Amino acid sequence: MRESYIQRQRADHGRRAVAVLPIHYPKELLTALDLLAVEVWGPPGAPRGDAAGRIQTYVCPVARNALAFLASGGADVVDAALFPHTCDSIQQLATLAADFGGWSKPALTFLHPKGFGRPSSRRFLAEELRALAGKLEAVAGRRLEPERLSSAIRLHREIDAHRAALLDGRATLPLDDPDLYALLRRGEWLWPEDHLAELRDARRLLGTAARRDGVPVLVTGYVPEPIGALAVLNAAGAYVAADDYAAVGRRIVREQDDAIADPWDALVARYAAAPPCPTRAADQDARMRYLEGLLERSGARGVIVHVVKFCEPELFDVPAIRRTFAARGVPLLQLEGELERQLSGQTVTRLEAFAELLSGPGGRA
Ligand code: SF4
Repeated sequence: MRESYIQRQRADHGRRAVAVLPIHYPKELLTALDLLAVEVWGPPGAPRGDAAGRIQTYVCPVARNALAFLASGGADVVDAALFPHTCDSIQQLATLAADFGGWSKPALTFLHPKGFGRPSSRRFLAEELRALAGKLEAVAGRRLEPERLSSAIRLHREIDAHRAALLDGRATLPLDDPDLYALLRRGEWLWPEDHLAELRDARRLLGTAARRDGVPVLVTGYVPEPIGALAVLNAAGAYVAADDYAAVGRRIVREQDDAIADPWDALVARYAAAPPCPTRAADQDARMRYLEGLLERSGARGVIVHVVKFCEPELFDVPAIRRTFAARGVPLLQLEGELERQLSGQTVTRLEAFAELLSGPGGRA
């Protein structure tokens, strides 16, 4: 489906496409240059070829699957690949894709600062954004016009506002979690205006359903795969009331739609306003305060930590997350997956037991 969509975008609009590895990148630059971003979160399931075996088995399945995917020709329909400096694994992939995976198209990198407390971080980011824009211009075959960048920033602000409204108002949205997440995750590959149209339609449904009577939970983690986990959660009488998935909620920037005097400054400001993420900064206190705020605002009665095996940035914060919520007496379930397509019977049982635990008096362990 994505391949045919990419081909239609090329045929109908002359848009070239860029495969983008997780997590944070300035999508506004691609939109302004009429480049379709198609994100590659693995993809899930078994590796698409034996190139995964060229990376050690203790590296996360996202990096291993991505190398196999690129090497097997899975992304040949795109014109370039972008590797943000999310972690050492993704950074290494930028060279491994060519050396071990036969990737012959442009492999672009985007090095975002780790931490944002110093003025030098802002300067560094501003320079990285301009450097990336130059590389993307070569892929797009056109110059980046400041007015188009400002329009793209406004477009992505609006998309984020709708995504935030849907997540915040989900208790009265007539969509179950798998359907809502399918909608939100189509933003990983749809042209932004197509995604915006779907979001607007969904937002009109807010408030049209009776308030959910299930148990609200907070989910923090990497990516909602397999999506069956959310279906099991719903069937067991719980639902995701607050989202801190790196692929979803952690990339929603809640900011005012202020006038844009300088689009580069606005891009830097957007980056600074994004929620805390261990791949962007190591300030655990700030992240714990943010997660506690999510819990309080959503009324979540439990926390699910849903991480990918061997994901160093996510796993680094897990002890602090455990301590934070244990101190508040909030039950916590940790799931560690390998990007499998199906849930194991053991995981189903653990999710069901957790939902049952939360359904008890006060939802206390
Ligand atoms: S280590 Fe974590 S952040 Fe890095 S690619 Fe793997 S899953 Fe993603």
